[in-house]
Amino acid sequence: MRDYVKRFLIAILMAVCVSLLFLGGRHSQAAVLEDLKGVKDHWIWPADGIISDIYGTRQGKHKGIDIAGDINTPILSVDEGVVEKSYFSDTYGNVIFIKHPNQFVTVYAHLNKRNAAQGQRVKQGEVIGYMGQTGQATGVHLHFESHQLEWRYDKKFAINPEMVFGKAEVGETVRGGKTSAGDVVEVSLQLQAQMEHKTQSPNAQPLVNQYVVEPGDTLYSISRKSNTTISKIKELNHLATDIIKPAQVLILR
Ligand SMILES: [Zn+2]
Repeated sequence: MRDYVKRFLIAILMAVCVSLLFLGGRHSQAAVLEDLKGVKDHWIWPADGIISDIYGTRQGKHKGIDIAGDINTPILSVDEGVVEKSYFSDTYGNVIFIKHPNQFVTVYAHLNKRNAAQGQRVKQGEVIGYMGQTGQATGVHLHFESHQLEWRYDKKFAINPEMVFGKAEVGETVRGGKTSAGDVVEVSLQLQAQMEHKTQSPNAQPLVNQYVVEPGDTLYSISRKSNTTISKIKELNHLATDIIKPAQVLILR
């Protein structure tokens, strides 16, 4: 009889645990939706251009939205936040990570030029860089990602930006500074100013002849950055090995 009671209690305990787990899962899911509600109608498209790829393509490996456009199209922060990282990566090229008050992290990759430094506070619509083709990119485009809490190497926390932007389709034209509903956010004036600035200096991508090596640089990253090849750099600088040092000046052309 005692044994029966014991078993009964264990069964109840297990049932409680399972339901708690279930409720816990439900709760976090609800929290995500609540977070998304907070940002909905609030994010603006980060650039003028045409959507050239969406989330989940390439056997699920494409964890972002691609917006193709002209070289040096201004890239805007989709929301206010703090620049978490701003650097050159071999894959992302010139990339900026922004952490937003709602704990989302947004990623802006393949930039031609970065216009925001680590630790910098940015407003929604602030120009953080210019569209390009740096890193592993085919054609000039912005690769945009959004993550909950943090970016991870495995992109475990990536969310489909369409959950915030609304449905996006390949071939669709989007306007930087506007929401998918077409609402103009107050940043459009700033964007206008940037565009004027851009037309004043159309040659924003000068051909660099010399390059000062920065910490972390490799011949490979420099060749990607400056659109040349490793063998060309080695030949021009009479390098016998691939070893380079910070502050070293390299001739690129
Ligand atoms: Zn992409």
